[in-house]
Amino acid sequence: MLQKPKGTYDIYGDNALKIIYLRKLINALMDKYNYKYFKTPTFEKSEVFHRGVGVTTDIVSKETYDFVDRGNRNMTLRPEGTAGIVRSFIENKLYADTMPFKAWYFGSMFRYERPQSGRYREFLQFGAEAFGSYDPMMDAEIISIIVNFFELLGLKGIKVNINTLGDNESRLNYRKALMDYFKPHIDSLCDDCKNRYEKNPLRILDCKVDADKDIMKNAPKMVDYLNDDSLNHYSKVKEYLKAMGIEYVENPRLVRGLDYYTHTVFEVEADIEGFGSQNVLGAGGRYDDLVETMEGPKTPGVGFAIGIDRLLLALESLKIDITEEDYLDIYAFCFDEEQRPYMMSLVNNLRLNGFNIDMDLIGRNIKNNFKHADKLKAKFVIIIGEDEVKTNIITLKNNETKEEYKIELENLIEFLDLKISEE
Ligand code: ATP
Ligand code: MG
Repeated sequence: MLQKPKGTYDIYGDNALKIIYLRKLINALMDKYNYKYFKTPTFEKSEVFHRGVGVTTDIVSKETYDFVDRGNRNMTLRPEGTAGIVRSFIENKLYADTMPFKAWYFGSMFRYERPQSGRYREFLQFGAEAFGSYDPMMDAEIISIIVNFFELLGLKGIKVNINTLGDNESRLNYRKALMDYFKPHIDSLCDDCKNRYEKNPLRILDCKVDADKDIMKNAPKMVDYLNDDSLNHYSKVKEYLKAMGIEYVENPRLVRGLDYYTHTVFEVEADIEGFGSQNVLGAGGRYDDLVETMEGPKTPGVGFAIGIDRLLLALESLKIDITEEDYLDIYAFCFDEEQRPYMMSLVNNLRLNGFNIDMDLIGRNIKNNFKHADKLKAKFVIIIGEDEVKTNIITLKNNETKEEYKIELENLIEFLDLKISEE
């Protein structure tokens, strides 16, 4: 039997309904915040991610799906959403628009990871990016989207961890302090961390292997190396979060896996049993140098990404059901082949008039047609026989009350509108 690739999954049935529900919720939520939908290609030239995510990150060094296309170009399936949007922002000169430029996306990301619950090789992310504002209000607005989204879903036990990486000056000072601190302890760190020491020592703090060692706990803290501008930015973000009633926890060891962050970084955790290190549902931060790094004009940015798969697992484990009831307005069937053109015309017309309607597409008998109407949770059944075609008087049955009506074709839509809105 042909099987799906390792680390992927099919979406159908109830899960499909859940995804559709989340999409609707996200559409409505992002309208409230005035962010516009943005779609970039699912693959980009590999360079986009090398520059936009950073070659020293786990994502680019270990997790990308790379391929050479038939024209011998190096391509990569997108592992995250930000780099592609920044590429497009620059290519389409969107920076010439009024700022801030606020965009959201929803789609598949690809990472070659060890598959486990909440960790897949193709997974869905919903995210947002805002360009053009250095103001801490922008950071607070971005964080508030995640919090409001989870609140709308009724998700409990959410923890917002925040930290700041400061501006470049502060981060360079801190980096030096960390290198001095870890230098005598290098041998006790894991191999990845030995590597990080040279390339990006901040990320030693993010290590899951060495996390519990004393040497990590006693490491210098970023806050002690922040210059006034950076301190001020951070305290404003916190002030604005408080003003919106958003609770947060300051976590001085939060650095995030990507190279491009400046100032605010955050992670939103769900406190759910059995989630292990897959308990981070969403994360993000500010990236004031990224647009410039990708050869655009210096433009600040801030964004987040939420893992939709982990979110669904969290909802499930909290027994929050977001499956909307699946039903049909109408199910139609006819007795004989001669009535099929009449039925198809009627059904087509009703669909164009906004009704959810399905019909017998395999020639069932009457009994099975009624069974099928029940299975599809149809509110009404339309039955077409010789008389209906001759007289244009349609037989309609309320599938719940079993009441039967004979309605003239020209009054059918009005009648159905009234009846279905009564439900
Ligand atoms: P982790 O530390 O769990 O590997 P990450 O830092 O790599 O996460 P981000 O790049 O910040 O994750 O992506 C944002 C969110 O996307 C994560 O918080 C998570 O919910 C989700 N996510 C990341 N990788 C995967 C994956 N392989 N499968 C499913 N969801 C994922
Ligand atoms: Mg990861």
